Parts: sequence; C-alpha cells; structure tokens
Amino acid sequence: MLIVQKYGGTSVGSIERIQAVAKRVEKAVMRGDRVVVVVSAMSGETNKLIDMATQVSKTPAAREMDMLLSSGERVTCALTAIALKELGLEAVALTGRQAGIVTDSTHTKARIEEIPSEPVTKHINEGKIVVVAGFQGATRNGEVTTLGRGGSDLTAVAIAGAIKADLCEIYTDVDGVYTTDPRVEEKARKLDRVSYDEMLELASLGAKVLQNRSVELAKKLQVKVVTRSSFNENEGTLITSEEECMEKPIVSGIALDKNQARCSLIGVADRPGIAAEIFETLASMAINVDMIVQTVGQDGKTNMDFTVPSTELEQAKRALGGFGEATGKQGFDDQVCKVSIVGVGMKSHSGVAARMFSSLAKENINILMISTSEIKISVVIARKYGELAVRILHAAYELDK
Ligand code: ADP
Ligand code: ASP
Ligand code: MG
Repeated sequence: MLIVQKYGGTSVGSIERIQAVAKRVEKAVMRGDRVVVVVSAMSGETNKLIDMATQVSKTPAAREMDMLLSSGERVTCALTAIALKELGLEAVALTGRQAGIVTDSTHTKARIEEIPSEPVTKHINEGKIVVVAGFQGATRNGEVTTLGRGGSDLTAVAIAGAIKADLCEIYTDVDGVYTTDPRVEEKARKLDRVSYDEMLELASLGAKVLQNRSVELAKKLQVKVVTRSSFNENEGTLITSEEECMEKPIVSGIALDKNQARCSLIGVADRPGIAAEIFETLASMAINVDMIVQTVGQDGKTNMDFTVPSTELEQAKRALGGFGEATGKQGFDDQVCKVSIVGVGMKSHSGVAARMFSSLAKENINILMISTSEIKISVVIARKYGELAVRILHAAYELDK
C-alpha cells in the first residue's frame, strides 16, 4: 500500500517521540508499504513563535509570520528524516515548497492551488521514505506561505490526493474522533466511522482533531482518512462517505469553539447594498465571518449581529471603523463561544433543536445566537458556560450510551 502518515505536534513533541515515529514508519516499511510522512512542529512550538512575534510587534506582517511559523515544521521534518536514516532506512526531508505545494498568496492562511505528484513520487520511486514539512507551501514566486492553524492535516490529505495514496493516517494524541472532545467530557465515546459531512461540520465548528479544510479536500478527492493515536496500536476512526456509515445517529457529536467573538451593529441604515458593503470589506481583509443574524428593520434602521474568530476581532474592528454613521452603534463581545450538535440523522427527525434549547434552559444558560443547517445546530453562549453546555448536551442526546 501507498500510505501518507501525518504526525501531529505531541507525536513529534520530543526527540524520544520523533524516534518512536521513525520506529512506527519502519514497521510500515517492513510490512511492505511505501510511506510518505508529514510532520507538524513540536507541540507548543507554533504558539511560542507567535508569542515571540507579538512581543516584537502588535501587528507583525503576515509574510514575515509565515517565514517564522514555517520554521517549526522544518525542524521536525529534518529530525524525522535523520531518525529514519539512523535506523538504516533511506529518507529525504522536503519543505512544502520542495514537495511541490503551490498556494495563493494569502499569507498565514493560504489556499493550495496545485500539487504536482512528481516532486514526491520521484523520491518514492527511488525507494526513499519522503518526509514533508506540514502546514506550508509557497506561491508561484517562491514566497513561503502557511496553510492556517492545524494545516499539517491539510498537507497530508493534499499529498495523499496528489500521489493517489491508498490511505491517509492522521496520528494524534487521542484514539480517534470522539462524540465530543474527550478532554472536556470524559464520557465521550470513540466513533468507529464518521461521514465526511459530519466530520466537516465537527471540524468547522471547533473539533480540532482534524482541520476543517483537510476534511473538505478529503471529501472532494475521496481520500480515505483514518485518525488514530501515535501512542498505542488501537483502531482509529475512519472518515468516509455517508453510504459507508451504517449508523445514522441523530446526533453524532458535539463541538465547542472558544475562538469566537460577536460583533453587533445596532441601528444600521436599512437600505439595499449595506450588507454587501460590510461583508465585502471584511472579506477583502480575509476575515472569516460565521453566524450572521439580521433583525426586522424599523424606522429605516436594522440590527446586524455576526461572529468572527476572536483572533480576527481586532482586524474586524479596524475594518468596521471605516463605516462611521451607516453601521450605527458598534458593540463587541469576545467572551462568547459556540456549541454545536452535529448528525446526519437530524435531516429526518423533528424536535432535535427543541431538546437542545430546553436542556440549556434547565441550566439557565442564555442563548445569544442560533444557526442551523441540515445536519447541525449551533448556539452562541457566554464562553464561561462552554464546557458545561457540552456535557449537558452530551448527556441529553445520550452520546455516552
Ligand atoms: P495534533 O497536534 O496531533 O494535530 P490537535 O491538538 O490538533 O492534535 O488535535 C487533537 C485534539 O483534538 C485532542 O487532543 C482533543 O483534545 C481535541 N478534540 C476536540 N474535539 C475532539 C473530538 N470530537 N474527538 C477527538 N479529539 C477532539
Ligand atoms: N504547527 C501548526 C499549528 O500548530 C500546524 C499543525 O500543527 O498542523 O497550527
Ligand atoms: Mg492538529
């Protein structure tokens, strides 16, 4: 088999862990598999680098941030290749650029435009284990870019798609995808299988076990993904098409996203084009707007509420600052979070939302915003109640059973 194995931060968090990764790769090679390894930076490293940059400047340039952040993955990539060679295996370390990952120029969250298979396959054909630095690529002009937080998952899926790998294994510090974050609810259960669509919602809504864009790409390219632990031999979770998932539970999982802030515009001029102006401005600054609620207009004025990642709140404030009168009074709340329930079975069941709202009401948790899709319901609540809400809902939908 041709396998891509991606190892996350804790899996390469120390020299001993890197040596353990090399051993695991060796095992696959002994089985007769051809392996491409994708590695993250050592756990905590990317945060440390961000912290250093913000000590130097409150608004570090995105281009230079990419130069800085991509270094973390270079270190583990080189060390992993060195560890493999030490075991007597043939290995070659490649940066994202050397692996052929071409991106657009949206620094710090670049999108992959193209990956030719040749830069990786030529080494595989020479019998080498290819080790690729995750999370990074380069523009056509050779500018270094990064793919957004958690982006090594995306590197792994993209390479698996490009070289038509049989399997993409995402190794992390938990046994797979659980009904909710096992660090928040110890009764969380590991799922054997989860559909691309459910996983995409869970990931987009805050379950960082897989980066959302990696799931999106896996679905598009039909890459078979398994998440599992690098600390044991347990079976992981298969992410696959809905048809291959036997069970269609009403609620499969619960996600908590604490990286949320609410922007409120009170008394916005109620005229055609105003929403376009506001959200085009935010989009031009690559700010990810999520939930949007507009209330019924009155006396030529209306109210608009929306959420952005809290890490992008300062940018959003700056963007909205340019509007003056037209957007009325502006308010911001960075002490909120989003709790979501996800399940394909929701499509055909009623009363799912009502149970969610009444469970939260029983604990006196006030709902600030609501949004729904076919397979998910999300609420924005005060951040301090985030974990409590997850546990309440986990019990309410009997996910521990
Ligand atoms: P890595 O560094 O290996 O990429 P991450 O920290 O990005 O690992 O993702 C793994 C973490 O995701 C777990 O430690 C867990 O706390 C968290 N997590 C959140 N939601 C879930 C979920 N539904 N199932 C499993 N893990 C989850
Ligand atoms: N090191 C990067 C991050 O912490 C990418 C990754 O780990 O996937 O976001
Ligand atoms: Mg991750």
